[in-house]
Amino acid sequence: MSQTSEVFIAKSTIKAQDLEHRRKILFNIGRYNAVVPQGKMQFENVHLARERAKNAKWRSIENLDQQLEEFERVFTKRGGKVIWAENTAQAIDEIISICKNKKCKTIVKSKSMVTEEILLNDAMEKNGIESIETDLGEYIQQLDGEAPYHIVTPAMHKSKEDVAKLFAEKLGTDPHLSPEQLTLVARNILREKYVEAEVGVTGANFIISDIGAVAVTENEGNARLCAAFPKTHIVIVGIEKMIPTVADLSLFWPLLSTFGTGQKITVYNTIIAGPRQAHETDGPEEMFVILLDNGRTNILNNPVQRESLYCIRCGACLNACPVYKNIGGHAYGATYSGPIGSVITPHLQGMDDYKHLSFASSLCGNCTEVCAVKINLHELLLDNRAQSVEEGFTTFTERMAWKLWKTASLNRSMMNMGTGSFKNKVVNGLFKDWKKHRGELNFSPKTFNEMWKENLNQKGKHP
Ligand code: SF4
Repeated sequence: MSQTSEVFIAKSTIKAQDLEHRRKILFNIGRYNAVVPQGKMQFENVHLARERAKNAKWRSIENLDQQLEEFERVFTKRGGKVIWAENTAQAIDEIISICKNKKCKTIVKSKSMVTEEILLNDAMEKNGIESIETDLGEYIQQLDGEAPYHIVTPAMHKSKEDVAKLFAEKLGTDPHLSPEQLTLVARNILREKYVEAEVGVTGANFIISDIGAVAVTENEGNARLCAAFPKTHIVIVGIEKMIPTVADLSLFWPLLSTFGTGQKITVYNTIIAGPRQAHETDGPEEMFVILLDNGRTNILNNPVQRESLYCIRCGACLNACPVYKNIGGHAYGATYSGPIGSVITPHLQGMDDYKHLSFASSLCGNCTEVCAVKINLHELLLDNRAQSVEEGFTTFTERMAWKLWKTASLNRSMMNMGTGSFKNKVVNGLFKDWKKHRGELNFSPKTFNEMWKENLNQKGKHP
């Protein structure tokens, strides 16, 4: 068993028994569940909208190389700079090098899972650059020294009392502040940082091929400030975020907001197409877009798993997953948690270390049911399981146990050998791990053949 798998089992065992954790999660997901159906009512036919979005993503992903080049061509025409990063190390090197050129001491950043993926804040700290999270949920998590708990709502596992206590400990505020007062405290601190920062870093929800721009969706306006206040704006984005045309946003924006938070449309939706132009008054002097691969082309190479690149990170599958609701986001030990995280992490970070995530699923299919772009998540989880077995990532004991089971199942005389209690002893002895969280397997005292004969005898028939 890999170390990551052992840590996952240990953390999830603790969280699954933590009733206070479950109460907070169910409370927050309950609020989400109450509003999503209302948001869906804005679509005349929500299934058709999801189907169309899936088709648009299919077009983008099937022609990703051309779409990325088209984006680069148009974006650079307006003075933007595009950087291609194959992995975390290249992305970090590029960001550090830009920051050093600008003599940057502070960056302000908006919420971005890709920056979590490359551990940007840690890299900044090592290079003596202050990195400030400006999304309120991310700011709370940064104060607490924790990674985001959820891809849309980073501090979902904290109550308002937890946040008030955290602010009191870290910022010396009154421990009984209301959510509004806490927001004002964060806002006052952050406003100064926007003015100080030499560089702003954001992610992007979509890369738009035809107009050579990125689209950023947010509820707080902080991403706009990160993009427009500092003299330099760096966007870091996974290459799969591509959509073919700007017109597709009329479909993706409402889908993202409804499936993400239940809103009809998110409060701020911004399209950024380059640095400030000669006739413009706002915006950065320089703008870079870093297109990050970091394992995504592994997924692109896999004809079955390719569908997972359609994900728009709405978070709906996390909120619907019975496993996520019990073990929470941190137990996964990966940037992307929940069903979509369990699908893509083995391909982004290695099958051997992360295959266990695909096995930690009830395969109930609820994730597929709720997915904004109709990704067949539960089938992809099954496919990951099959791939991990084909690639030989199973233990010797497991392989032997299945071999024995198959041989016995195909051989009636072997099945008839021994009494029920003998079989109980052998099988329960072999499958020790199975018994840790379940009752023992209990064989019938009589074999199937014996019962069949008895049944026929009772009916006066002879075998
Ligand atoms: S897989 Fe689907 S439901 Fe899950 S985050 Fe992505 S788009 Fe949303």
